[in-house]
Amino acid sequence: MLFERPDDDTLYDALIARSADYEGQAYVCVKTTGIFCRLTCPARKPRRENTIFFDTIAACMHSGFRPCQRCRPLEQPGRESIVDELLAALDREPQLRWTEDELMRRGHDPSTVRRAFKRGLGVTFHDIVRYRRLGEAARQLADGARVIDAQLEAGYDSPSGFRTAFQRLVGKAPALSQNRELLSADWFDTPLGPMVAVADKTHLHLLEFHDRKALPTELEALQKRVRSSVAIGRTPAIDQIEAEIRDYFEGRLTVFRTPLALGGTPFEKHVWAKLMEIPAGQTRAYGDLAREMERPEVVRAVGRANGANQLAIIVPCHRILGVDGSLTGYGGGLWRKQWLLRHEEKIRAQAPNQAPNMEETA
Ligand SMILES: [Zn+2]
Repeated sequence: MLFERPDDDTLYDALIARSADYEGQAYVCVKTTGIFCRLTCPARKPRRENTIFFDTIAACMHSGFRPCQRCRPLEQPGRESIVDELLAALDREPQLRWTEDELMRRGHDPSTVRRAFKRGLGVTFHDIVRYRRLGEAARQLADGARVIDAQLEAGYDSPSGFRTAFQRLVGKAPALSQNRELLSADWFDTPLGPMVAVADKTHLHLLEFHDRKALPTELEALQKRVRSSVAIGRTPAIDQIEAEIRDYFEGRLTVFRTPLALGGTPFEKHVWAKLMEIPAGQTRAYGDLAREMERPEVVRAVGRANGANQLAIIVPCHRILGVDGSLTGYGGGLWRKQWLLRHEEKIRAQAPNQAPNMEETA
């Protein structure tokens, strides 16, 4: 059920051939332009390494990609005109606050709008407004990163463009903490979007995808817990996890060695340790985990501990499925969970003779 979509190589071939075989079932996102297209798009085709494939429009938009103006992937034949009308209005006035009141002011019934979008695109109008805003924030962050590169090369420090964009995410500039080590926060790019890492000099405290909704709350709680402040910066622990995450995405590593600062209750730490025993390429249900801990009555608490995890990918809560094999929730977004599981399946398939908990091969 999880992996019924053809693999990316097949989809790339279809893209080059402008084949309509996967119309409505797969879309291509182009990293260099920030645009997503139907595979049949008449525009010039991107190189293989600049493509990411998703099976829904929602996943493309959630990753910050905008619909192509040539093949117009949001337009579907036979769809209610209200959908196109509102999409066009959103294009004209992206800055407007598109609330239910605003829809009613324009003579639309919000629940009719919701149903029409769900039928036509599989997502609500409200979702599309939100995805666009997130995409805009991610683009500003990426622009900020280019600014910091350029300015560092030119010999300036403290580039304001980057600070503004990243601090919007990380929070206010910290007050100087007294005699305590500051935590450093930085971000790096991955095939699934930027990740934010927070660490002291030696240990990693947090690793999350940049658009995780709970991220601001997590940062606040972290600063309270360690009684310190987070400032933008780099430490060896951040360098190490960036290198390991890159190897993970390139399929060369599934066991992480960056020292971790796990700040949870003893119960949460126990659950996270159990999660880290699940090998890449395998999955478990909450119930399995609770039974392994010889406490089958604590399934719900296990679920909560799973949700409290602040080390995405490293503490692999994405390897937890519903009893029926469904994807259930994921703080980083279901599309990422699906992508990570597919990726780990592939790593396992490529290294069938290795021990299940594969060591790095590089
Ligand atoms: Zn296109």
